[in-house]
Amino acid sequence: MNTVLQDGLGRTIDYLRLSVTDRCDFRCVYCMAEDMTFLPRQQVLSLEEIERLAALFVSQGVKKIRLTGGEPLVRRGIVELCAKISRLPGLRELVMTTNGSQLVRLAGPLAAAGVKRLNISLDCLDAEKFRAITRTGDLPQVLAGIEAARVAGFERIKLNVVVMQGRNADEVPGLVDYALARGLDISFIEEMPLGHVGRSRGETLCTSDQVRALISQRHQLLDSTESSGGPARYVRVAGFPQSRIGFISPHSHNFCANCNRLRMTAEGRLLLCLGQEHSIDLRGLLRRYPSTDQPLLDALHKALQHKPARHDFSANGDVQIVRFMNASGG
Ligand code: SAM
Ligand code: SF4
Repeated sequence: MNTVLQDGLGRTIDYLRLSVTDRCDFRCVYCMAEDMTFLPRQQVLSLEEIERLAALFVSQGVKKIRLTGGEPLVRRGIVELCAKISRLPGLRELVMTTNGSQLVRLAGPLAAAGVKRLNISLDCLDAEKFRAITRTGDLPQVLAGIEAARVAGFERIKLNVVVMQGRNADEVPGLVDYALARGLDISFIEEMPLGHVGRSRGETLCTSDQVRALISQRHQLLDSTESSGGPARYVRVAGFPQSRIGFISPHSHNFCANCNRLRMTAEGRLLLCLGQEHSIDLRGLLRRYPSTDQPLLDALHKALQHKPARHDFSANGDVQIVRFMNASGG
């Protein structure tokens, strides 16, 4: 299939992040407020609607789909959905971002359903701090989930760490050693100002350069020009050829010029940029036109002409985007 999706600035769009739910069993301090109201179920896309949208995007040139949330593994029917999406002709890979809490049960079935790679969030290796950051999470359960994923046969597993001064910056060296010992990739993310989470993010911002300095105290880092087509910049570690360390730096290094992605929220809003409010309602069109895709295609191509040049995040951590990360297809 040779169709290519391009936005108004000539960027090729071949990557869709699909949120399958806004719900989650964790309440991470950077992602959610303590008291969250989730979407009423009828506002969330059905599994059939998600599958229809995935097929439509793949028919237009999307080559990679990431299922995310909220926590994708709390959505009932997720494994069957994965099996259907992974078989779409033209799709190169189906991948997923998860908090790992359900992986002991689901890692094997997900791999069998065609999920190629997993990103697993892991912000620290201390059970008490882990509970404080996730508010409800159980570290041993997540670590057991990571081990289950390692034996399930995914092509790659990457750990995602949101680094905050005073919360988990001191965990960075230990997390790097944990990843290196298991041949996993690991990415460090600067916290983004999405949604009011009840604290000032500017005060805890830990930049990628600071994280890199922390790792350099223990390891020799080798610059790399590798790219996974996303916003991460990578380094390698001398003596550990299997692992890559990534830095996702929305504040300190703008990456928008190479943006190749779109996001679909759990309620079917197409987000053209994580750092802008503009979105279009595809759920309305899905439900109004159950048997013809043309109105959806017209809306998609029109919207792409308005994909913004760059995000609007500011480094002081002020919230310009009222959407929470769990509602954004993070
Ligand atoms: N629940 C899954 C998980 O935690 O991996 C998938 C959804 S979560 C929203 C996707 C990723 O976004 C996670 O790696 C999480 O750490 C990251 N994230 C959430 N809120 C963020 C924020 N405000 N800034 C930067 N990254 C954030
Ligand atoms: Fe849930 Fe993931 Fe958000 Fe944490 S980052 S609250 S695990 S959706």
